[in-house]
This record gives sequence, structure tokens and C-alpha cells, in this order.
Amino acid sequence: MNFLSNRVEKLAESETLAMSRLANELKDKGINIINMSLGEPDFATPDFIKLSAKDAIDKNFSYYTPVPGYKDLQEAVVNKFKRDNNLTYKPSQIVASTGAKQSIINLVMAVVNPGDEVILPAPYWVSYSEMISLNEGKVISLSTDYRSDFKITPSQLENAITPKTKMFLFSNPCNPTGTMYSEKELRALGEVFKKNPHVLICSDEIYEYITFEGKMFSIGSISELIDRTITVNGLSKGFAMTGWRLGYLGAPQAIAAACVKIQGQFTSGPCSITQRAAITALNADPSVVQPMQNAFLKRRDLLISLMKEVPNIKVNNPGGAFYLFPEVSSYFGKKHGDVVIKDAKDLCMYLLNTGHVALTPGGAFGAPEYIRLSYATSEDIIREAVSRIKKALIDLK
Ligand code: PMP
Ligand code: GLU
Repeated sequence: MNFLSNRVEKLAESETLAMSRLANELKDKGINIINMSLGEPDFATPDFIKLSAKDAIDKNFSYYTPVPGYKDLQEAVVNKFKRDNNLTYKPSQIVASTGAKQSIINLVMAVVNPGDEVILPAPYWVSYSEMISLNEGKVISLSTDYRSDFKITPSQLENAITPKTKMFLFSNPCNPTGTMYSEKELRALGEVFKKNPHVLICSDEIYEYITFEGKMFSIGSISELIDRTITVNGLSKGFAMTGWRLGYLGAPQAIAAACVKIQGQFTSGPCSITQRAAITALNADPSVVQPMQNAFLKRRDLLISLMKEVPNIKVNNPGGAFYLFPEVSSYFGKKHGDVVIKDAKDLCMYLLNTGHVALTPGGAFGAPEYIRLSYATSEDIIREAVSRIKKALIDLK
């Protein structure tokens, strides 16, 4: 008897989480695996944030919280958006959730009707496409490649927009490519949006504090667009707080209210202790995370220089986040013994089982000729990982 719904049968498992699960299974068997499949900072959460969580426990912040988050958290987000991003939202337009992942699914459920088109520049983050499909929306993916730093052009965007387009959704800096659009490039895309007032824009800025080419520009700061821009962010990446689970969005009032309605039926407000810690984090000067940013920059440069020594690997120069997304298609069709590497998934399984390095295949990100490496790990581990990858790839005939 199969009790499962059609909806869940069609849903793919998150590829990032799946690869990480496989890596952990091998680790549990005693195999020395380097896991570069999951996008998760290896740093500890800063002490001043941890202290405020301990304080919140002692002060009995143990009750249900308002569905969109504590009022002073909404205010802290408003101030953060103003201070860092030149974005103007009111506290009532802010909804805090159990991770940015929940912010995005709330949004998708709030705006996507069956048949609505959502434009995703590819490569895109794994969960976007699944969330859209779950809501019977149609994914319109715009292809890019490493040669153009994975950036779409204004005319590509313009050609993709139809009367059915509901939303444009992207991450900037991008997971999985690390690509960061400049202000000039976003203003050029903004001109296309100005001509198409029926299109919502969702800017996922969760890697905002991990940038290597100056500050990130928020597309919602273009004043003509703020009335239909949803800005998503969270504490997972910038503050090394993945397990604490706090994300948030700023949205047009009616959309924020719809997200609150959905969240109120599904999960209620996010964790009280995490929210108190988040207020402390967001009110702090962003320079507190600079040491992590500096470490990521060194790791990026190291990884790129090492990967350039691996034959037939093509990479861009990511402006942010902590991912490298090499093109690996010249390895497709090669063999290890009798086993043929047909695609990026086979290549990742080979690198996991033989090279003992866990990476994520590009197909889940809408880019089947690529693989993703997360370099949120120490320089020594990066060196060892690339040496294993290189050896395993050279062994393919
Ligand atoms: N957006 C992007 C682009 C991501 O890479 C992630 C991965 N964590 C998320 C959203 C979700 O983050 P979280 O739920 O941990 O806040
Ligand atoms: N977003 C991270 C990643 O892409 C964490 C895993 C996930 O949330 O899917 O690896």
C-alpha cells in the first residue's frame, strides 16, 4: 500500500542534504571523508550572540512568540535593512521565520498560483525549483555559464517575461556559483522590471556578509522597485548560525500579511531564544563578522589556485558566498574500471566513494555540467580535498 501523496512523490530530496547524508554514512563506517557538499560555515557562533541566548533562557523567554517575530526583532531587521542595504520597510512588513528556507516557502505559497511562471537564473539554489513545483508553479530557468560569470543579461530577462510571469527569484551572492551582481548590472536588470510592473522580485541575500568585491547592492533599494521587492536574509551564513534557524523577509504589506497567515497555520513564530540572540546579532556593527569574511577570501583564493592545476576544470572567480562551481563535462564518458561516468552525479559518487570527498552535482542547481564545492572549511582541508579530487580525476581513463 502506498500512502504517500502525489505531491510528495514528485518532490525531490534536497541534493545538498542528500550528499551530506551519504558522506556521514561513510564517515560512520570509519572512512575519512572530506565533506564539501553542504553550505555551512565551520566557524562557531560569536560569543556575544551566544551570551544573549543564555540570558534569554535565564529570563524565561520560553513562551510562544508573535507569529512574525518579536516586535523588537522586526525593528532590528528594519534598522538592519536601512543601515546595510538602503532598504525601507516598516516593522509590519517584516516576517521572521525558522530559517530563510521557511521565509522562501512562505513567500512561494503566498504568491504562486498553479501555472504561474517564476523566473530563475540558472544555476539556482536547489530548493527554489522544488518549492515552485510543489506549488504547481512553472520554473522558467535562464541559462548562464562560467564564461560570463553566470550572469544573465537584461535582454535574456526581458525575453523570458510573459503575462504569466509572477516572480523573478535569485540569490545574490549566488548559491551555487558565488556570483555577485554589481550595482550597475542590477540597475540594468531593474530597467526591465520597471517596464514590467506585474513581476515581483525576490532577492535572497543570505550571503550578504560574505563578499569579496565590496558591498553587495540590494535591488530593492531602487526606489521604483521596493513596492514589489521581497528581500530575504537570515543569520545562518553571515553569523555562522545554521542550527539556530532564523531567517526573515521584508515584503509588500499584503504579502507579509499572507506569509504571517501561512506561518501561523504551519509553525507559529520562530524560536524565542534564537530571536533574542538574533536581535543582538542584527544590532551589532557588521564589522564583527569581518574576520570570517577575511578567512573565506583566503580560502577562495587558495581553492581557485589549486583547482586551476586540475586538468580540464573550468571555473569563474566568485565575488561572494563560499562555493566554487567548476564545469566538469570533459570527464563525462570516462571510465574507472568498468564504471562509466555518465554525468555530474556519477562523477560526484565516484569522487565520494573513491576520492573520499563529498561534493554536490550541478543538476539539482539546474546546471548538469557542473559540480559544487563548498569551501567553508579550513585551508588544510581544502588542500587535502583538492589533492584527492585531482588524483581521482587523473585516474579516470
Ligand atoms: N537561500 C540560499 C541561497 C541558501 O543557500 C540557503 C542555505 N542555507 C538558504 C536560503 C536557507 O538558509 P536557512 O534556512 O539556513 O536560513
Ligand atoms: N543552503 C545550504 C546548501 O546549499 C545548506 C543546505 C540546504 O539548506 O539545502 O548547501
